[in-house]
Amino acid sequence: MPGPLVVPVQGDETVPRDVDVVVIGGGIIGVSTALELADDGLRVALCEKGGIGHEQSSRNWGWVRITRRDPREVALMSHAMRLWAGMGARTGRDTGYVRSGIMFTCPTDRSYAEHEAWIDNVRGLGLGTRMVPGAAVGGIDGVKGALFTPEDGRAEPQKAAPAIAEAARDRGAHILTGCAGRGIETSAGAVSGVVTERGRIGCRAVVLAGGAWSNLFAGNAGVDLPQLRVLNSVLRTEPLAGPEHTVWAMGFAFRKRQDGGYTIASGHENVVNIVPKTFRYARAFLPALRHEWRSLKLRIGADFIAEARIPKRWSLDAPTPFEAVRVLDPAPDRAILDRVMRNLARDFPVFAQARVAQRWAGYIDATPDAVPVISPVDHVPGFFIATGFSGHGFGIGPAAGRLMADLVTGRAPLVDPADFRLSRFTDGSKIKVVTGF
Ligand SMILES: Cc1cc2nc3c(=O)[nH]c(=O)nc-3n(C[C@H](O)[C@H](O)[C@H](O)COP(=O)(O)OP(=O)(O)OC[C@H]3O[C@@H](n4cnc5c(N)ncnc54)[C@H](O)[C@@H]3O)c2cc1C
Repeated sequence: MPGPLVVPVQGDETVPRDVDVVVIGGGIIGVSTALELADDGLRVALCEKGGIGHEQSSRNWGWVRITRRDPREVALMSHAMRLWAGMGARTGRDTGYVRSGIMFTCPTDRSYAEHEAWIDNVRGLGLGTRMVPGAAVGGIDGVKGALFTPEDGRAEPQKAAPAIAEAARDRGAHILTGCAGRGIETSAGAVSGVVTERGRIGCRAVVLAGGAWSNLFAGNAGVDLPQLRVLNSVLRTEPLAGPEHTVWAMGFAFRKRQDGGYTIASGHENVVNIVPKTFRYARAFLPALRHEWRSLKLRIGADFIAEARIPKRWSLDAPTPFEAVRVLDPAPDRAILDRVMRNLARDFPVFAQARVAQRWAGYIDATPDAVPVISPVDHVPGFFIATGFSGHGFGIGPAAGRLMADLVTGRAPLVDPADFRLSRFTDGSKIKVVTGF
């Protein structure tokens, strides 16, 4: 795989005939759900079409942040911060998690006031979130100040999902790689199994955690899940002595890596490749596009034809689109990354000597309100969906897995799941965009 080098997870050789729950997708959400379900004593099989963590969950920036989250995600994220802090001990493996602080800089008085007002969302959580003056931010010219949370942190995306998957296996979960889930089977309207490319697995519940593929999988099961892909390009540098805390600014975003280098990208320049689905969901995504239009580059190219050719419905006894693309590995946008490095070297001169070690890109799976779906599918008993994390699912992943497990087992949920329900897109609710993607 040309993307970042992920700690390899060897999949199980045998496929179980029958479990309690099948999880589709071996990203941070699928593996966290599998770990929680296995800890609850359920028999779990996780099916991943490629390798564990090979898509978004290894390609992301590695930020574990509560700062500037959509208020609907704050309670869940505060649980995630606690879970990350204990993840090394729980999994017996290194996830690279450290608390290092994250800073969002404010280029204008207006953005300073908005960031300051955001602090109300975390009052009472015992965090040190505060505004810091411009002079404390570093070398950024004209910056008015920054929103800073010392308890925010970072983890290593190439290690975290594999560590959690192995921990789920330690507790009895079956981890199946190179094993696409083709679709669900129902009996009297309720889930009774999953057909995979390696055979059928009987189960009473399925959790779809398919990241950027979830819309396609759900569609074949007759469930409309509005979701589009947004491309973000990333690079990493060779080791370099520089800032320890993580910084978001106009024109660049960086964090220190465990290997001594930096992961660097732009949060203000994302690409949307126009595909047939863009038109289908244009109305649903209009508020998000209005909110984010400055940061989105709309592009039409080969992806349009490629997506048009993908079948939207299929039978379960023949290869599916999931078997045709094991790992989504889009090309990074070099022009964006070159611009990012110039901006960064201007404001933090230490980066002028940075040597780029690798570039890659990832498709962010976005929902119309940039808030995930963590929800049962009301009209298909036993079908659950955890997806659409809209560019912030790595940090919140462990808690999202716990919440999903609560919904499957019927335990008291970790947080009120109402804001994450799938039906908000169809029940006439007003779709509110707060943070964008
Ligand atoms: C460039 C970039 C930067 C980001 N930065 C951050 C960040 O700093 N902090 C943060 O919190 N979030 C960040 N994110 C978002 C975060 O990475 C995602 O929200 C998160 O990883 C989503 O996890 P997931 O498990 O839902 O999806 P994924 O990691 O994409 O995993 C889904 C998996 O499902 C598999 N799959 C799909 N369909 C099937 C099928 N039918 N059968 C079997 N397997 C299937 C896929 O192969 C894939 O491995 C970023 C994302 C990107 C792309």
